[in-house]
Amino acid sequence: MPLDQIPLFPLVRPSNDYRLAVVGTGYVGTVAAACFAHLGYEVTGIETDTAKLARLQVGQIPFYEPGLEDLVNSCLRGGRLRFTADYADGMTGADAVFLCVGTPPLPDGSANMSAMNDAARSVAAAVRHPAIVVIKSTIPLGAARSVWTVLQDTLGQRNGQAAPVTLVYNPEFLREGGAIGDFLSPDRVVLGSEDAHALRLVTDLYAPILRQSFKGADPTRRPGLLCTDLTTAEAVKYASNAFLATKISFINELANICDLVGADVTSVAAGMGFDHRIGGDFLSAGLGWGGSCFGKDLSSLIATARREGYEPALLTAAVEVNKRQPDVLLDKLARHFACLAGRRIGLLGLAFKPGTDDLRDSPALEVAQRLLSRGAEVIAYDPLVSSVSHVPRLTVVGDPYEVAADADAVVLATDWPDFLLLDLARLRARMRGNVFVDGRNVFDHNVMDAAGLHYEPVGRSKAHSALELHGGSMMRQHAASANGRHLDALTRRRPSLKTRALARRSDVDGT
Ligand code: NAD
Repeated sequence: MPLDQIPLFPLVRPSNDYRLAVVGTGYVGTVAAACFAHLGYEVTGIETDTAKLARLQVGQIPFYEPGLEDLVNSCLRGGRLRFTADYADGMTGADAVFLCVGTPPLPDGSANMSAMNDAARSVAAAVRHPAIVVIKSTIPLGAARSVWTVLQDTLGQRNGQAAPVTLVYNPEFLREGGAIGDFLSPDRVVLGSEDAHALRLVTDLYAPILRQSFKGADPTRRPGLLCTDLTTAEAVKYASNAFLATKISFINELANICDLVGADVTSVAAGMGFDHRIGGDFLSAGLGWGGSCFGKDLSSLIATARREGYEPALLTAAVEVNKRQPDVLLDKLARHFACLAGRRIGLLGLAFKPGTDDLRDSPALEVAQRLLSRGAEVIAYDPLVSSVSHVPRLTVVGDPYEVAADADAVVLATDWPDFLLLDLARLRARMRGNVFVDGRNVFDHNVMDAAGLHYEPVGRSKAHSALELHGGSMMRQHAASANGRHLDALTRRRPSLKTRALARRSDVDGT
């Protein structure tokens, strides 16, 4: 039977009969383990980092992800989820073992597969009965076949006590900050394998998601299912991230041109987005993309292409435009100050995007580091980040208005909804200068003018400010409701924030 015609129904087994192991309980693994347990499967997370394991075992999540702590605790209490460091214990009776370990970039841009290969060796050494190994981590094109070789080599060394395993590649597309919703109601499930039975069983595991039949599902959604071969599934993951990153770099390139000719990139993006062939998502110009995935996945794809003798000009350009974007902001600052050395710059936001405390490849941090290297003093605030130990000269404060104290300029680097609700006149009153660089294009000229701030957005001419008045006020209203939800989530996780958060909210209500 062609692999893309594997039938979804009926289920091979009732869902509560499946046992799963999830190896590597970081962002992806913890979300996958908790969500599968929520679907009714019996799930064991296997984690080698003892500090992380100890926290997970008592229901504490070592990173910020909305709703995850509640979900993990409910599954722990229900007895459907547990965590261990012992592979043999964790894999007992498991029908499928999901590998979710990290695949960080090596200096040459290729992916570091050592954690993946270690995990594969440990799985093959511990497996006692036939099982499906499902790779969920993002791995280079062709790497699943290398993992298969590692599995077979280790099984081959076991003198006949080995159980057969089959391999499926199942890339993960979740976004930090909305990971549970993305996992349980994804746009698509992609499965790659050379083994039709393995594809059938993993499709069954996803049946409650594909049919949106679990408790709390969204019945209006129908996630797509693609069953294909291993390497094509690997390529789907890289292609998706490369396309999204390229879309952002494209609009940033346009923004830089708009700045030169006096056009408004937000209107350009809106006009483009009406075209259903283009779509409006990922067309927000500004500081560029970051996080643990886009940069590393693009450099891995570029490294694979070069290894095969092909120069991927478009992908390389997407990376180059992104690397340049922080300097676009610094150039805007430099136009106001003869020299950045000795200037005091306030930075709003440190995480690579709102809704997370993840600093990996954060463009905000890149701006901070480039400012520091030019001799500026940088004072930063982020709702979820209270220190950045690897950038010792960066001062992190606990209140957004503190970044403005005696600042020559303020730079908005992460578009947390909270920032739209700041009392800008109060911010301005604390500053020494009046320059506000908006690296995420979230404010409008008129509001900034009214607060006495000299506004520097990315790719938006002031000629359009009359039109922005309406759009800007809508954004502020949207931010107000998003902010309410966000503050609730924040204060649930860090009660110490409550007073400050409520104070901020009333500040804003007063504007
Ligand atoms: P992470 O670093 O947060 O988690 C990896 C976990 O694996 C860590 O807890 C680590 O201690 C554990 N680990 C490492 N070696 C192990 C071993 N041999 N046995 C057991 N545990 C081991 O990484 P992440 O962000 O969850 O990403 C995992 C993979 O998923 C990566 O390939 C990433 O590219 C991909 N991915 C990540 C995201 C995301 O938003 N974070 C989204 C989609 C895909």
